[in-house]
Amino acid sequence: MKNILTVKNLTTHYDTPQGPARAVENVSFTVKKGEMLGLIGESGCGKTTVAQSILRLIEYPGKIVTGEVDLDGKDLVNAKTSELEKIRWKDIAVIPQSAMNALNPVYSIGDQIIESILLHENISRKEALNRTKTLLELVGIDKDRWKSYPHEFSGGMKQRVAIAMALSCSPKLIISDESTTGLDVLTQAQVIALMKDLQRKLDLSIIIISHDLPLVTSICDRIAIMYAGKIVEWAGTSNILQDARHPYSKGLLDATPDLANPEKKVVSIPGTVPNLVSPPEGCRFRDRCQYAMETCAAAEPELVAVKSEHYVSCFLEKGAKYVL
Ligand code: SF4
Repeated sequence: MKNILTVKNLTTHYDTPQGPARAVENVSFTVKKGEMLGLIGESGCGKTTVAQSILRLIEYPGKIVTGEVDLDGKDLVNAKTSELEKIRWKDIAVIPQSAMNALNPVYSIGDQIIESILLHENISRKEALNRTKTLLELVGIDKDRWKSYPHEFSGGMKQRVAIAMALSCSPKLIISDESTTGLDVLTQAQVIALMKDLQRKLDLSIIIISHDLPLVTSICDRIAIMYAGKIVEWAGTSNILQDARHPYSKGLLDATPDLANPEKKVVSIPGTVPNLVSPPEGCRFRDRCQYAMETCAAAEPELVAVKSEHYVSCFLEKGAKYVL
């Protein structure tokens, strides 16, 4: 499958009075056409900064220090602002955090979708309305409700509107940033099932950003696990579930309850995430890792292939050969 997005050595820092907070460091991954990639990790591990860097929405005092972001042949790191305005929404759409609160309460949901289409495409209002009705049906909302206002919808329905809006210009990539946070478990499951269904039907490429491991493993094709601004493991979902290699990935799995196995002992990872202004030298997970060795303090482990399409950043992987 062709890569729609290639991120290479992306590094984004935020200047603070104490020095730069190294929020994203040397992050590399790809998203294939029609693939759902999960970007997972604890709060503050850099997931949202990765998304904002891809979209070039990092605000002062943050800055992309180095790296490449290629969206289907377009260089996003060096694109002009005018070019980026066209790319955002048309080529990459975002379903934001608290998507259900992102709708404007004074406009009907149909008018909001129509406006987003007309901003990016040179078509008539009637054509935009017809497309809006089709999109609403696609996300399971009666097309005649296009005149309804956000307050007339439940949280789950508003979430569906946000998805319809993200699809409105047929983007190459959708980024869903913790977008189901705040929904009850049942509604969250319905929205996630809808996204998976749309991904299959429309051959969509989607990045799901989440701290919820069961959610991500239930729908994503591949998963990239982030810790303290770095990707520590990246592999197909079944490889993560059955053959996680990085001590942090194993810790995340051990800390997750298993509904199918109520006997499972849930063990949380000791310690807390490091301060990104002064993370530990060498491996950033060192202070919490039961396998830490002298080498782990002396150098930063690189992300290397341990087998086909399975990458790990840990000195325990002595046999790994291929640098990504
Ligand atoms: Fe643990 Fe060392 Fe591997 Fe880091 S590199 S995860 S400290 S064993």
